[in-house]
Amino acid sequence: MRTAVVLFTRDLRVHDNPALAAACANADRVVPLFVLDPKLAGLSPNRLRFLHQSLADLRATLRDRGGDLVLRTGDPVAETMKVAGEVGATMLGMAADVTAYARRRERRLTAECERERISLRLFPGVTIVDPGVLRPGGGGPAYKVFSPYHRAWQSATWRDEVATPRRITVPDGVAAGGMPAIGAGESPDAAGGGETEGRRRLGTWLNHLDPYPDLHDDLPADGTSRLSAYLRFGCVSPLALANAARQRNAEAYVRQLCWRDFYYQVVLTFPKISTDAYRPNADDTWRADPEALKHWQDGQTGVPIVDAGMRQLRAEGWMHNRARLITAAFLTKHLGVDWRPGLAWFFRWLIDGDVPNNSGNWQWVAGTGNDTRPYRRFNPIRQAQRFDPDGVYVRRYVPELKSVEGAAVHQPWRLPADIRRGLDYPGPLESHRDEAVWLRP
Ligand SMILES: Cc1cc2nc3c(=O)[nH]c(=O)nc-3n(C[C@H](O)[C@H](O)[C@H](O)COP(=O)(O)OP(=O)(O)OC[C@H]3O[C@@H](n4cnc5c(N)ncnc54)[C@H](O)[C@@H]3O)c2cc1C
Repeated sequence: MRTAVVLFTRDLRVHDNPALAAACANADRVVPLFVLDPKLAGLSPNRLRFLHQSLADLRATLRDRGGDLVLRTGDPVAETMKVAGEVGATMLGMAADVTAYARRRERRLTAECERERISLRLFPGVTIVDPGVLRPGGGGPAYKVFSPYHRAWQSATWRDEVATPRRITVPDGVAAGGMPAIGAGESPDAAGGGETEGRRRLGTWLNHLDPYPDLHDDLPADGTSRLSAYLRFGCVSPLALANAARQRNAEAYVRQLCWRDFYYQVVLTFPKISTDAYRPNADDTWRADPEALKHWQDGQTGVPIVDAGMRQLRAEGWMHNRARLITAAFLTKHLGVDWRPGLAWFFRWLIDGDVPNNSGNWQWVAGTGNDTRPYRRFNPIRQAQRFDPDGVYVRRYVPELKSVEGAAVHQPWRLPADIRRGLDYPGPLESHRDEAVWLRP
């Protein structure tokens, strides 16, 4: 009787899950395991809620196939080794990952498994193309610029999707462990987690792919897939999604998924991405301005397009990509505030918040990362007029401005004084008041 443990991390699905498929093919008994690490529990109530929903869904799906999801709480390495010992496992499989946290866990598991003579195998599945596989022509361990990476990525051979195991046999006598209570999260309009919900949304999305190239920057249209959180937790396989999009010739969409892979391979060679500037000496002299930061966090800067984005973040635990660009650029390039507290705020609220994509994008916007034009500035008013021409997006998230019609909503400081006085909406920030002049397109 061969017994394997599959340690789930951020691959919370049964479809196209190489670690789970291999365990079911090579062992007679399989323990699907998830370990809740209390150290991560406090990071983001939104993500914790989504995680717990995803675990409940995974357990139900595994039970439908005769299996179960075994849950433990504690140090992931110690708990995994304890379970492996209890069931006499000779194999341990899990998805390979790139962050400093994940790689420390992998290193510790490797050492423990060697000691216990358990064969540890790391599988693909978190990205489409494995990080580290594509190497830049001029040398170096990772691509630093997106375009050449994208070209290499497009012509790379992708692995085959693996079949969903039909039956999973868990050894007798393993305590399943109690499912954590699903908390309220912090965002009232947050999406619900789980593979079942992710697959349902994916199915719907595939019928809406055609207008993506025209609509993906259009703020009121909300014409993006909103699958990021499902990708973040692996409820949807990025490879299965990319294959389905490719079959529909949706290359513009597939290109966005390539950005996700791009940042994963960056992090593999630059694990300090959340704290250190990626380009040496690229960090600006940032201002410390707690008051401006607080106004930005609260969606009270007095610049409506910025405030709309920041309020969407709180309400939904998600923000449109165009709004992420505008709000992040406003904090760093206009207020001159360090990108790290901005990154931390996004990381607390975003359900899709993960180290490679959050930190990689923040550094891109701040001009410390992989952007080939690091001194780019976004004019938030021009951005608002272009991507929210009638002000629909702003009015959706800033109800104080509901009575202001059309594009006038983007520059409330230009409204006649008596109307402006009637609005319960702040004027531009003190530290930013001079900029109001050039903010005028
Ligand atoms: C400052 C800032 C912070 C960000 N933080 C995160 C984050 O923590 N997690 C995250 O998943 N994305 C992050 N993004 C990227 C992007 O905004 C989101 O992936 C996207 O808005 C998610 O919505 P969607 O699924 O509808 O995207 P779609 O437009 O439908 O795109 C499909 C998928 O492609 C990937 N993708 C799209 N754009 C990017 C991008 N610029 N970088 C990397 N992957 C991309 C995502 O996985 C996304 O789900 C950030 C962008 C910025 C500017």
